[in-house]
Amino acid sequence: MLDKLHEECGVFGIFGHPEAAKMTYLGLYALQHRGQESAGIAASDGQQVRVSRAMGYVADTFDSAALANVPGTLAIGHVRYSTSGESKLSNAQPIVIDCVHGQIAICHNGNLVNARELRNELVGHGSIFQSSSDTEVVLHLYARSKAANLEDAIVESVSQVQGAYSLAMLTRDRMVAVRDPHGFRPLALGRLDDAVVICSETCAMDLIGATYVRDVEPGEVLVVSAAGIRSLKPFPPAPLAHCIFEHVYFARPDSYVFGQSVNEVRTELGRILAREQAVEADVVVPVPDSGICAAMGYAEESGVPLRMGLIRNHYVGRTFIQPQAAIRNFGVKVKLNPVRSILDGRRVILVDDSIVRGTTSRKIVKMVRAAGAKEVHVRISCPPTISPCYYGVDTPQRSELIAATHSIEEIKTFLEADSVAYLSLDGMLSAVGDQRGSYCSSCYTGRYPVEFPRDEASYLQLVLKLDKEVAAK
Ligand code: SF4
Repeated sequence: MLDKLHEECGVFGIFGHPEAAKMTYLGLYALQHRGQESAGIAASDGQQVRVSRAMGYVADTFDSAALANVPGTLAIGHVRYSTSGESKLSNAQPIVIDCVHGQIAICHNGNLVNARELRNELVGHGSIFQSSSDTEVVLHLYARSKAANLEDAIVESVSQVQGAYSLAMLTRDRMVAVRDPHGFRPLALGRLDDAVVICSETCAMDLIGATYVRDVEPGEVLVVSAAGIRSLKPFPPAPLAHCIFEHVYFARPDSYVFGQSVNEVRTELGRILAREQAVEADVVVPVPDSGICAAMGYAEESGVPLRMGLIRNHYVGRTFIQPQAAIRNFGVKVKLNPVRSILDGRRVILVDDSIVRGTTSRKIVKMVRAAGAKEVHVRISCPPTISPCYYGVDTPQRSELIAATHSIEEIKTFLEADSVAYLSLDGMLSAVGDQRGSYCSSCYTGRYPVEFPRDEASYLQLVLKLDKEVAAK
């Protein structure tokens, strides 16, 4: 695994399509980059909600027989990334329950900052959880709601959670989309003929031929039923906090998120980086794939030619057999290989989207040097990551983030690079133009728009800890 921050989930939903599960399968396939640990689909035929979930990639998880087990015209689906130790089927989504309000399935992209407190409270009142995922908290709140109808029960339950959530829910005859009032994580609304589609990124719509209509708005609850689409705005307005890292790294460049083209924003990050952090060199080389757009922008702005000096092997499976004899930097070599004819004797500007712990970057710099590069100048298309994310991105603790504990000069020494430079905060925010005030950049500033428990370790490792607690019993 390369040393990157990881998105924790992608969601998809469709209402009013004869092959709802198959469309959801395709949508999840397009969203695979948002989570590779597990995948699941819940569908309703109007009578019953059924679910199919499994560990692994979407294409490996579902075959025709599995999709035939989730019949119906409405479906939601989920791909999930999980931190080490809590990768297990009971945490896969959608989660389905049957309660006083009927059957309901839920999928979640984001992170609830008060999940632990709510969970403890619910357990104290007798709730029995089937997973250690914070998403299940919403279902328990929903099941306990005394509201007269389903929509009010959903609003009542979601009103009690805080943090980042883009939710897709499914009942026997309705699909519901909810986005938190800050709009941390994306959620788009589209149409495929008469069917209504929701998804984390528009690339999922492209694959099935759906048309983007608009984003589900921050703080909006969309109820899709045979009667049409109803939009509710039940939450008090809050300052917008779209995740800027979706543009920097997570989202696919062919997607639009938060109403902006990821490719355009990401390329602009590279252009601004070139203006801010110029250096004499012979060639711009992206760290594929995530560094490609920014490297193109950097090359365009600087006039230094772009060359693919590192080639990525796209067919690396989840596990591979290692030889008994140690091969230096084996993990990185399996994924990336240098092109000597491009690097040999050249001064190289190596463009990447981020440095987390620095361990992978160090190996890549070594690899580029070993291929003959005369100089290696590392350029990063966002500011130093100095603080963890509490809003749905898997981040190590502050102490493990190299930029939180080391100066730029020390990072340069650690990476064994000739120079290291990052994009400024102002430069990053300029790339989204007049939307800059709508973005979260907490992992670069340490200033958080939504409060979170100060016990960082227990929060970041919430699921892991819960797993251990369960195992110890
Ligand atoms: S802290 Fe960083 S990764 Fe998390 S939501 Fe904010 S910008 Fe995105």
